[in-house]
Amino acid sequence: MAFFDLTDFDNHEQVVFCSDEKSGLKAIIAVHNTQLGPAVGGCRMWDYASDEEALIDALRLSKGMTYKNAMAGLKMGGGKSVIIGDAKTLKSPALFKAFGDALNGLNGRYLSAEDVNITTADIAIANSVTPFVTGTEGKSGNPGPFTALGTFLGIKASVKHKLNLDDLTGLKIAVQGLGSVGYGLCEHLHKAGATLIVSDINQAALNKATTELGATVVSLDEIYDQDVDVYAPCALGASINDETIKRLKATIVAGCANNQLAEPRHDQALLDAGILYAPDYVINAGGIINVSFEEDYSVERSTRKVEKIYHTLLDVYAKADKQNKPTGIIADEMAREIIKNGGK
Ligand code: NAD
Repeated sequence: MAFFDLTDFDNHEQVVFCSDEKSGLKAIIAVHNTQLGPAVGGCRMWDYASDEEALIDALRLSKGMTYKNAMAGLKMGGGKSVIIGDAKTLKSPALFKAFGDALNGLNGRYLSAEDVNITTADIAIANSVTPFVTGTEGKSGNPGPFTALGTFLGIKASVKHKLNLDDLTGLKIAVQGLGSVGYGLCEHLHKAGATLIVSDINQAALNKATTELGATVVSLDEIYDQDVDVYAPCALGASINDETIKRLKATIVAGCANNQLAEPRHDQALLDAGILYAPDYVINAGGIINVSFEEDYSVERSTRKVEKIYHTLLDVYAKADKQNKPTGIIADEMAREIIKNGGK
């Protein structure tokens, strides 16, 4: 593989392949950019179809973290790690200790935290051998609820901009994925008076959403066809693609998933289809904002900073309208400008 020629290679500062035969650890740590500070971003555990798919995920996710941290006003660079394997069968204390040892090898250039399939308990095990983790229990803890809050406020900003409404009462919102963030988002939306249509592969989560939040369940594929105001992707990436854009009836795409666009050109495709897109790394920054308060944690200060996502998105939308450009391109330009100016 011609690594440096990969489309998703974006002059990453460092990419580390880690393995530990005893525990079965196979991981990739991608440090994209440390201009604003040490690279910070979660660790994802996934049973990738190939090592190349894992590498590409790490490259894309770590670049996203650089832009996310810059746009959230954090003095942190961007990085991400992936552990290759099935979280249901491969997890063990030895695996997370081996992962912690790998983090020690980077000596603080990268700090890891929770992402898909990685819990605070997993991070606590890594933390027993390395200080280079964040989002730990007893300090900032699980970032999920703050990502959910930021995403909720991001949906409100999108509704304000696109539909000129301050209130979500009576709006229909399709949420794909009821995990740590998606379910929390649904709770906020339900409280705000929205009607929920949901999909997940986890039947227990679907049952809970029906009973507790009056949600309507649809199949994994039907979620794209719903007659809703907002489509909120909250599972994995690439759910916005050539096929789904044609099917969406929502005029807003705003959810917490990372890398929602299958390809960068889908940003323009959404604009052409008259759909407002909340750039994923802007709307889903609540968790990393909370993690940034790890030392000297304060829920009030964290919440106040998460609330800024509402205004950041309105700013992105205003610039995009003015320049008639896709919102994702505008967010990228704003992030690069912030990095160039040392975080200002
Ligand atoms: P999670 O693993 O807790 O939840 C993911 C949910 O999606 C699970 O309930 C899973 O069953 C469901 N799912 C999987 N495939 C699906 C499919 N095809 N259709 C519908 N549902 C499906 O993960 P999470 O922490 O809630 O993260 C969700 C997304 O948000 C991920 O893309 C993650 O990278 C992103 N994100 C999370 C955070 C955070 O703080 N946890 C922060 C920023 C971004």
